[in-house]
Amino acid sequence: MGQAQNIQNTNKTGTVVKVAGPLIVASGMADVQMFDVVRVSERRLIGEVIELRGDMASIQVYEETAGLGPGEPVYLTGEPLSVDLAPGLIEGIFDGIQRPLASIYAQAGDRIARGIDVPKLDYEKKWKFKPVAQVGDHVIAGDVLGTVDETEAVLHRIMVPNGLEGKLTWLFDGSANIQEPIAKIEKTDGTVEEVKMLRTWPVRRGRPYNEKLAPDEPMVTGQRVIDTLFPIAKGGVAAIPGPFGSGKTVVQHQISKWADADIIIYIGCGERGNEMTDVLMEFPELADPRTGMSLMKRTVLIANTSDMPVAAREASIYTGITIAEYYRDMGYKVALMADSTSRWAEALREMSGRLEEMPGEEGYPAYLSSRIAEFYERAGYVACLGSDERYGTVSAIGAVSPPGGDISEPVSQATLRIVKVFWNLSADLAHRRHFPAIDWIASYSLYSDQMNEYFDNHVDANWSKQIQETMQILQEESELEEIVRLVGVDALSFQDRLTLECSQSIREDYLHQSAFDDVDTYSSLKKQNGMLSTILDWYHMGQKALDAHVLFNDIIQMTIRERIARMKYVPEDKVDETYKAIKNQLEQEFLALMEGSGNID
Ligand code: ADP
Repeated sequence: MGQAQNIQNTNKTGTVVKVAGPLIVASGMADVQMFDVVRVSERRLIGEVIELRGDMASIQVYEETAGLGPGEPVYLTGEPLSVDLAPGLIEGIFDGIQRPLASIYAQAGDRIARGIDVPKLDYEKKWKFKPVAQVGDHVIAGDVLGTVDETEAVLHRIMVPNGLEGKLTWLFDGSANIQEPIAKIEKTDGTVEEVKMLRTWPVRRGRPYNEKLAPDEPMVTGQRVIDTLFPIAKGGVAAIPGPFGSGKTVVQHQISKWADADIIIYIGCGERGNEMTDVLMEFPELADPRTGMSLMKRTVLIANTSDMPVAAREASIYTGITIAEYYRDMGYKVALMADSTSRWAEALREMSGRLEEMPGEEGYPAYLSSRIAEFYERAGYVACLGSDERYGTVSAIGAVSPPGGDISEPVSQATLRIVKVFWNLSADLAHRRHFPAIDWIASYSLYSDQMNEYFDNHVDANWSKQIQETMQILQEESELEEIVRLVGVDALSFQDRLTLECSQSIREDYLHQSAFDDVDTYSSLKKQNGMLSTILDWYHMGQKALDAHVLFNDIIQMTIRERIARMKYVPEDKVDETYKAIKNQLEQEFLALMEGSGNID
């Protein structure tokens, strides 16, 4: 299915009439369809038709077009831009049109040379195919024919291709490459179709499923500020604006490592070359806490640096989400990270400008919002195709990098209209070294109510009440701070000052979380609940003590507060006993305070 093959299948050609950077206009293109792939000039640069007028086609070219000129041929392939789907995706590092970086570097050195034809996946490698279905079965699209151990961490399910149904007449058992037949299916009209492990799918079309369901389970990340205050659902969509240095990369790495997702798709989209190189270097180094192996064993990386042509950047988002949907269809929980969607939108803007389309706000095309929406709408929680009951999710997290951190610009605004979770990274918090720098006042999650209900049922019946109170205390703090700035802390009542003490504890002892501390890097929901409830217990007791005329300073100087501040460093297996001991000590100290003030009933 390589494109090289397709060229030989068609001798139809058009002719270049104009070259404008990554955009080429060609004549004689009446036989071509929108979004078909073409090969331009004898160098066979890869391009995609993005506009058709009569027999004139505008083509975005995924490779450097310098040196091209009018009169050169354009070869039609008759196929839309597609990805290869088969074992071998995981651990892959691809460019925006799924060319493996390792093989293009091997062929072409550091800079990606033009017109390079490399197989998207390894067509020779043998995989051990283990049959699951039974010969004689009536199978429909989505049914699992067999499995392949793609990596130590991922079991790849080979499904009946979309659009195929019939009787399974033969099933392979053994080692095969992805182009060899592994099954034969007799259709109702009596014809027999051979099935291989390799599938192709056009990237701009969402893969089908039986039903889309409302996300109802949290994707637990182990990051306290996220899970507690701004949770994301499995199949949910989130945006994270990341001004430089605000900790965007660290948050994404943390989610990749710790989120309860089976598969990670990371699309590095047009960040500066060296930043992307960091990702390429760092990602394989990340250890997967589940397996102890490299995180790459369940990751696909798509990398487009800004020195790669702009059009490939535009495609990378679709390539990534199509691969994500493919693993979703196997019944997996997939987390997709796109970094950054702003660079992707800039690619759209550049192509739109070259097409001389009517510009919308800030030069972005009028369809910017609908393109952003189309991307995020491919995320979700679905009942997969096939006769067995199988559910899969794609959760999409898009980083946005608004120039100057100003989210009133079009890409941020269009993104905010569609995503349900907004983790607003604050430059100010990062500057104060409060990490993760997710601003608790400006951020939100529209999944909160539903997720809190889940936590009430699965973690602690008090969960949502606790969260509500926590948010209220943080809100109050921001209001009280205003007063403190104007007239000083002494003007506040002791009750208000206690609230400030509590919110400080929530911020410093709870929301602040070091990604680099072996223990603190991840908190289970049980641990989150234990920590937060203890902080609030102290607050409630403190309020009672104040009512009983215990001195404010005695309350804020309780020795237990030291231990509360260090709760984050208690390893998961010690949480039960240690937190119980802390709660006991809290009660003892509180009783002693009340006794000291003669207020014990
Ligand atoms: P960005 O990608 O937004 O430019 P980074 O993710 O590289 O920013 O973060 C910048 C620095 O902030 C990191 O090198 C690290 O020192 C610090 N940092 C960010 N998040 C955390 C965290 N959760 N825990 C500890 N340090 C962090």
